[in-house]
Amino acid sequence: MPTQEFDATAHPSFDGHQQVDFRIDQKTGLRSIIAIHDTTLGPALGGCRMWPYANDMDALDDVLRLSRGMTYKNALAGLPLGGGKAVIIADPKTDKSRALFEAFGDHVDSLGGRYITAEDVGITDADMEIVAGRTPHVRGIRATGLGDPSPFTAWGVFCAMRTAVGFALERASLAGLTVAVQGLGHVGGRVAALAHADGARLIVADIDQARVDEVVARTGATSVPVDRIHAVTADVFAPCALGGGLNETTVPQVRAGIVCGAANNQLRTLQDGASLMRRGILYAPDYLVNAGGVISIAPERPGMTADEMKSRIARIGDTLGLVLSRAKMQDLPPEVVADRMAEERIAAARRDRSA
Ligand code: NAD
Repeated sequence: MPTQEFDATAHPSFDGHQQVDFRIDQKTGLRSIIAIHDTTLGPALGGCRMWPYANDMDALDDVLRLSRGMTYKNALAGLPLGGGKAVIIADPKTDKSRALFEAFGDHVDSLGGRYITAEDVGITDADMEIVAGRTPHVRGIRATGLGDPSPFTAWGVFCAMRTAVGFALERASLAGLTVAVQGLGHVGGRVAALAHADGARLIVADIDQARVDEVVARTGATSVPVDRIHAVTADVFAPCALGGGLNETTVPQVRAGIVCGAANNQLRTLQDGASLMRRGILYAPDYLVNAGGVISIAPERPGMTADEMKSRIARIGDTLGLVLSRAKMQDLPPEVVADRMAEERIAAARRDRSA
């Protein structure tokens, strides 16, 4: 199976990646890219996304940005892991086959454990089980731990939300507060349930009406159209759908005092974070808040029970508290402080290694 030589270093999102490996397998139709951003803290862990990218350059851009993001997420979560990511350029609705996932498993295995894969958008448990038949470097399946990371991601978001309302509103819980949840999928549906159980009133939206109906029936939530959810009057806005939802159009319309949700890459640009801060809105950095899933699949302590894992993940709330205190003291947006804390951890590990 050939590994294509190409120059990723010229790409604007390259950002010092340690390795970028493009695999083409004519027999199975596999076209995959594995990007390893940084392995200072340990092997690079990050999910594999299957998506029908318009072209290879779009796929490269996505994998490079996601892989760099994993370096920061894993570092700030205190994991002994670096950052990496994989993409398979194909349509998950039509292009899946056993042979394709076996070929991807071989691609992962060829990196000798420098990259550890897991599920991401477009990939199911069953797909990853096939990959795991070809390489031991797979996490997030039943055989290697606690399985589906989504409930753990949701728990981390809930813990972060509690810290955020403590910090901004001096509240010990969500009781009596209003939480607006955008996207009621694997994570958002559970965030809504946890907030409801803690006493919050819910406002919800999803493009899938069946999901909205189910949450409304279960929690008494109020539903609003998907193009209004970011602008409703609420204490907390929880983006749990897709990334880029906080941008120059939506940020001026946000009426919640706190933004804290699961979606990756919520801020379209750094300016959008600065705009939230100027408007006095507390933004809980997405990759810190949504790290519960990666913590649950990290090979940190094999054999942990779900309850032990939940205690470990609750530390996300403590880390967010530190980030928010530092941000206030230094008059900086929390996402800038979070980046600096992640970079400090990596720099300290580099110093220790060279000492
Ligand atoms: P999911 O696909 O199960 O749920 C996404 C939900 O958002 C779906 O119900 C979908 O219908 C809805 N949606 C899509 N576009 C929408 C829109 N414009 N307005 C309202 N709703 C919309 O995905 P998930 O696993 O719940 O992940 C949600 C987000 O959290 C994603 O951004 C993902 O990258 C991020 N995340 C997930 C995990 C995890 O463990 N699953 C971990 C870290 C980050």
